[in-house]
Amino acid sequence: MRLSLRFFLSHALVAVVTLGVCLLLLGGAARFVLAGEAARLQRQKTEALAQAAREAAVSQDELAVLSVMREALRDPGVVFAAWEPPARPRIVQPPALAAVVPLSPPQAKLPAPQALPGLGQVVIWTLAYPLPRSGHGLVRLGFDQGRAQAAIHERLMAWLPPALTACLAALILGALASFWVGRQMAEPLRRIAEGTRAVRGGRLDQPVLLDRQDEIGDLARDFNAMTVQLKELDAMKRDFVSGVTHDLGTPLQAIRSASNALISGRAGALNNGQSEYLLMISNHLEGLTAFIQNLLSMARIEAGKVEPYYETFDAAKMLSDWIKLYRAQAEEKGVELGFECKLRDASVNADLLQFRQMFVNLLSNAFKFTQEGGIMVELMGNSQWLILKVADTGIGIDPRYHQLVFDRFFRVRQPKGAPARQGTGLGLAIAKGLAEAHGGRLSVQSSLGHGATFILELPRRH
Ligand code: ATP
Ligand code: MG
Repeated sequence: MRLSLRFFLSHALVAVVTLGVCLLLLGGAARFVLAGEAARLQRQKTEALAQAAREAAVSQDELAVLSVMREALRDPGVVFAAWEPPARPRIVQPPALAAVVPLSPPQAKLPAPQALPGLGQVVIWTLAYPLPRSGHGLVRLGFDQGRAQAAIHERLMAWLPPALTACLAALILGALASFWVGRQMAEPLRRIAEGTRAVRGGRLDQPVLLDRQDEIGDLARDFNAMTVQLKELDAMKRDFVSGVTHDLGTPLQAIRSASNALISGRAGALNNGQSEYLLMISNHLEGLTAFIQNLLSMARIEAGKVEPYYETFDAAKMLSDWIKLYRAQAEEKGVELGFECKLRDASVNADLLQFRQMFVNLLSNAFKFTQEGGIMVELMGNSQWLILKVADTGIGIDPRYHQLVFDRFFRVRQPKGAPARQGTGLGLAIAKGLAEAHGGRLSVQSSLGHGATFILELPRRH
């Protein structure tokens, strides 16, 4: 999953959970406030009744109390009203409820709802009022708890839609902001990843340009510093290799000439043992010379000093001549070696020696990595491009190494028990460098265990 998406999703999840919890808390708090307000109103009503009863006791006007009771009953939330003057029968409105209204003493705190027969849950407020001389009377008001709860619920429901809309708007804004922040964070990381790929592909001259003062900026600066160091090391290594190679070339040439002179007998006759040892020395010298030649070619390619000497020749004729030289090797190995030219005119304008080196490097690989089956060389193309394919039925190359095999010194690690194959890992790097010096390219198509096809494309004219 992309970093920006992961960032966005995790933020969205946190925002949804936080908003949900906030909504629940706010809903609970609003319900608490509304319930408190309803209780205050109920108490106020009961206090008004108690006040009327006190004034009635002073003025002996009992009708005023009855009218306050009737007034209170107009509220649909009030179930009953009761007046209990001392030493007198109590008055309950509506009178039919006289039997169910309890005779409990007044309570100090908020009364708890109680179930009354036929009335459901009722909250009964009971207040005492003082008499002019001594003693006290009681008034009660019963409130329908179900109706009070329904009123609170109704008010909460009226509050919910705007609250939800506000939450949704906050959520969308938060999500957009988190998406933007996620992208802002992922973008520099993407650029650093690009830089890493460039370094892996051998391009050490592409610094990651990031002007940030945070940890990501530090990472980019460290990465650039590392690339500069790598570049310096690479240049040092190249200078060293080409210096050593050059210095080795001359004495090696002298040793070869001397050993050839000895083998030819020009310096006197040799006995069998001496000839055998000399042959061994000569074989190793050939290998060493080829290696030094490869190193020199690579150094020239990397220094950009390969200048093809262009001449026009018939590629089909050249290839069929060269292939003839490999027939014996193919027979000895037991592999088929075929050549097909699909062009009527196979002339090409290229450096003949370098063309030969590219072909030989590809063909020698095909021989090296093919135990059975065959090797097919094909020449094709069009008026612009000459295409040379070298296909084999050998061990093949895992696609994850398709880029890397063209890096100098890279060799695919062979599985344990596989036959040892000599090589330095320079053949393909040289072939690719020479192809590019010609303005062409070299690529591979292969999968593990199913052979490999190397495709060399060269422009036909320059
Ligand atoms: P050198 O060519 O310097 O003697 P090499 O053949 O090992 O050594 P390259 O020609 O550069 O080096 O090839 C690099 C690697 O690519 C090889 O070691 C091998 O792992 C892989 N490779 C090249 N050609 C083939 C092929 N035809 N089939 C399978 N693997 C190949
Ligand atoms: Mg090779």
